[in-house]
Amino acid sequence: MTMKIATTKAFVLFILLVTFANQATAQETKIKWFGNAAFSITTPNGKVLLIDPWLRNPANPEAKDGKDPLVAVAKVDYILLTHGHRDHVGEAVEIARRTKALLICNPELAFNLVKLTDFPAQQVDSDYIMQMGNEIHIADGEVMIAMTPAVHSSSVFNPKAGPNEPERAYGGSPAGFVIAIKNGPTIYHSGDTAYFRDMDTIGENYSLDVALLNISQMGPKMAARAAQSVRTKLAIPMHFGTGGPVQTADGFIAELKKLKLSSYEMKPGETISFRGKQLIPR
Ligand SMILES: [Zn+2]
Repeated sequence: MTMKIATTKAFVLFILLVTFANQATAQETKIKWFGNAAFSITTPNGKVLLIDPWLRNPANPEAKDGKDPLVAVAKVDYILLTHGHRDHVGEAVEIARRTKALLICNPELAFNLVKLTDFPAQQVDSDYIMQMGNEIHIADGEVMIAMTPAVHSSSVFNPKAGPNEPERAYGGSPAGFVIAIKNGPTIYHSGDTAYFRDMDTIGENYSLDVALLNISQMGPKMAARAAQSVRTKLAIPMHFGTGGPVQTADGFIAELKKLKLSSYEMKPGETISFRGKQLIPR
């Protein structure tokens, strides 16, 4: 009898511990880097946002040795595209078909992806089509997304190009995103952009915990200045080592040190977690 009570008590304790562990994980936001500008963000409620999903990029360890990196993205709720270039649209169409994810981007890019690349039209909802300066709430209000300017170009590669159809179609204006997560960090993804002084406005309007900064387009020195302008608590370099002009983040990290700003260099394939707005140390 005593034995039975002890077993029951142990079982109850086990259930409580499992519940507690699950709740602790549920309160976390996870950011995974696939290389180049491709990131996934998993919210505390389990919604998955995928940004610029070129997963078959040469830096992604999940794309090496003939492996299919799309296996790792079984669940995606939203695909965010900063602009139409191929190293950002990546496998968006294939992932959208597999996961039924909704598209978040500007109207011209959305229109041409549907028309030219067969992006599923039913997954393009006008509520999620954005212009610069817009803010939308998604994931039942758990996530706010703001579209921010980017100084770059944008076009959509047209696989149906022919005598009367150009190889590159209009992609609207390139952009970046601020992604504010309830009970989680506020994240800035710069997209492809040169440094511009109005990044200060992003820093004034949003309290950024993390900035994912494109060090190839800005160069290490101006990317560090961007971290300063957007007033991020933590700067993470991206868009390097995939055939662009910058192969490592060393120069960027050195420039940040001069400015006494915090950085974290992710490795492609790595996931970092936040409890609330705090990065969980490894
Ligand atoms: Zn790019």
